[in-house]
Amino acid sequence: MAPGTENLSAVLYGISDLRLEQREVKKPGDHDVLLRMGQVGICGSDVSYLTKGRIGDFIVKDPMVLGHEAAGTVVECGSKVTNLKCGDRVAIEPGVPCRRCDFCKGGRYNLCKKVFFCATPPDDGNLCQYYLHDADFCFKLPDHVTLEEGAFLEPLSVGVHAARRAGVTLGSRVLICGAGPIGLVSMMAARSMGATSICITDISESRLQFAKSQGADAVVLVKPGSDDKLLADAVEEQMGGVRPDITIECSGAESSIRLAILATESGGVVVLVGLGPPEVKVPMVDAAVREVDIRGIFRYANCYPLALNLIASGRVDVKPLITHRFSLTEAREAFETARTGAGGAVKVMINCEI
Ligand code: NAD
Ligand code: ZN
Repeated sequence: MAPGTENLSAVLYGISDLRLEQREVKKPGDHDVLLRMGQVGICGSDVSYLTKGRIGDFIVKDPMVLGHEAAGTVVECGSKVTNLKCGDRVAIEPGVPCRRCDFCKGGRYNLCKKVFFCATPPDDGNLCQYYLHDADFCFKLPDHVTLEEGAFLEPLSVGVHAARRAGVTLGSRVLICGAGPIGLVSMMAARSMGATSICITDISESRLQFAKSQGADAVVLVKPGSDDKLLADAVEEQMGGVRPDITIECSGAESSIRLAILATESGGVVVLVGLGPPEVKVPMVDAAVREVDIRGIFRYANCYPLALNLIASGRVDVKPLITHRFSLTEAREAFETARTGAGGAVKVMINCEI
């Protein structure tokens, strides 16, 4: 299929200023592929750039195409591309690192300081009709894996990285704090890596019910102003009288990070995935004297192949998480649904094949 000349793109100009406009269709360099975009999921970070114009030190100063949870079809290959051919359907790993620094050479390329990352200013994302990407950061999807599932490899990779950093293994008892899309994919990744008991928290009863429908063994509803220690006891009670040896915090809320530390069994691990305020008050001495390790994660590295395997093998089913679908021309409505969570929205998907 020859590429078209029109390239409708969802471009963020500033706070609450998302425009659909035509952009050029670029020619692939030697190692690039040109993709006809298929499905793009909306992530909380896309919504933050739209509503606040920034995430921490990343500030939208120039117009930027949104979108980084994406999959598409190869329509043109650079002269040196050998891993893909026209017509291949691929998931796009949105971060392309420099490949030369010590982090890249050591395999922790998510820590590369010169990474290009879709829809992190100033880098354009792929919520558009045609998009160029490095061929080696595109992963061919088997025929039975849909482009929507391909787009979902991005958040699922966050869950895989979190579960790996946590050391989830056969028999792990895992607490997940926050039942948003990232909490849910972390739960699914932990389950597929062998966790036998999973409890999940949220401040929303409906999100907890949804988490239960997706396989959580136990849930704990967090009410505003709840006492941390009582909540930690409630987690223990829900987990059959034992504390989790791993907690994956996926809300970013200060009180939830506190709970994550207090609830985790001595000698256990807390992984911080949620990104909330830059500084938080937490019971650090309690963590220290009980040898609870606190680890952060930043995106993921080397996780797309495993995430794809989990979906392709049927061990993880992300399809129920896709609650709303829109077309690229309806991008503004799609973002409004993602922002408000209207209609119980979990993952909002945008179809770019218009
Ligand atoms: P989300 O906002 O959809 O989900 C967060 C969930 O946490 C919501 O369901 C909310 O009700 C719940 N919550 C809020 N306060 C809570 C509390 N005190 N206790 C328990 N639950 C609470 O967001 P998401 O898309 O699922 O992402 C989750 C977090 O992960 C965000 O902070 C996001 O920035 C972060 N994130 C980090 C990385 C990384 O690389 N570290 C990557 C992706 C996302
Ligand atoms: Zn690098």
